[in-house]
Amino acid sequence: MKSITHDNLLKLLAGLADEGKIVYAPVRKGQKVFFAPVQNMQPVVFDYIQTTESPKLVLFPRYEPLISFEYQGKEVKVDDPSAAAPAERVLFGSRPCDAMALKRLAEFFDRDIPDALIAGRQKALTVISMSCIKADADCFCTSTGSSPGDICGSDILLTPVENNGYAAEILTGKGASIADRCSSLFSEIPEIRKEQYLAKVEKAFSHEEVRKKLSHAFDHDIWNGASLRCIGCGACAFVCPMCSCFDIQEEGTAKKGSRVRCWDSCGFSLFTLHTSGHNPRHNQSERWRQRVMHKFSYQPEAAELTGCVGCGRCSRACPSDMNLKEQLQDIAANVETV
Ligand code: SF4
Ligand code: SF4
Repeated sequence: MKSITHDNLLKLLAGLADEGKIVYAPVRKGQKVFFAPVQNMQPVVFDYIQTTESPKLVLFPRYEPLISFEYQGKEVKVDDPSAAAPAERVLFGSRPCDAMALKRLAEFFDRDIPDALIAGRQKALTVISMSCIKADADCFCTSTGSSPGDICGSDILLTPVENNGYAAEILTGKGASIADRCSSLFSEIPEIRKEQYLAKVEKAFSHEEVRKKLSHAFDHDIWNGASLRCIGCGACAFVCPMCSCFDIQEEGTAKKGSRVRCWDSCGFSLFTLHTSGHNPRHNQSERWRQRVMHKFSYQPEAAELTGCVGCGRCSRACPSDMNLKEQLQDIAANVETV
């Protein structure tokens, strides 16, 4: 097994940035921690439980042109961003739940008609994750199929161990190419039991059980009570690593314009509003039900993908104190299956 010291880890990341890769890492802004591109490693932070926003923007940006055009005389110049080679990116400091979420998100966008922009970005992305040695009451990864030391979706997984160092699991060819190129920064150590260093996250419910219960819950009263506080602000969707709703807009003029994709949320009242004025989800409880059903029932049934990794960001970000983990526990405990 390999290990790396803290100083060598900073050298590794600085070296990757010097090679021209875009290195995203957690940095502090005020009281909060966000992923941002870094060139030098001085602002990178290590003492956080979870970043406020997820790293999904490395695959699925908040706003991006899908195609642009411009008239030049009688000629039309068309710019198709999916034709360009995506920038090589490194995501450092993602938690195991985030790495799993990015893998699932890429799989989601690869279904039916594969999304070339997102597939290209995933191919050019190397994920160096950090196991969790601390968790808080909002974390519920162990209820959704992940765990504080899960390797899924990471190319390299680091686990903080003694003496200011990290055990390094090199998990994929992308990870091996970095570890081989920078072999002088790593040491060989005997195999360790990393579980002794990991945060303990008690299982709060079974997602298989919730999925079964939800198939009987569409008309259940539980949705009315659950959504009373929700103001439909969409914060939960925007911080979520797995929320994939987007809108397509046309911008510009007849001479120059773009078709753009931007994040959206099924929690917004405009999301399903028809031009006629009819809204098939006309109240907030129906929108909240859609959010939970899509993640824990429809998506698992359609694609064997649970749309939540239990990162807890939605509960931390909600201005109305909606708590997804508690609501799922409530569904698991109180919805009948007959
Ligand atoms: S963040 Fe809270 S209030 Fe806002 S839409 Fe989500 S659940 Fe509703
Ligand atoms: S629904 Fe909430 S807990 Fe689940 S992945 Fe999204 S932000 Fe994290």
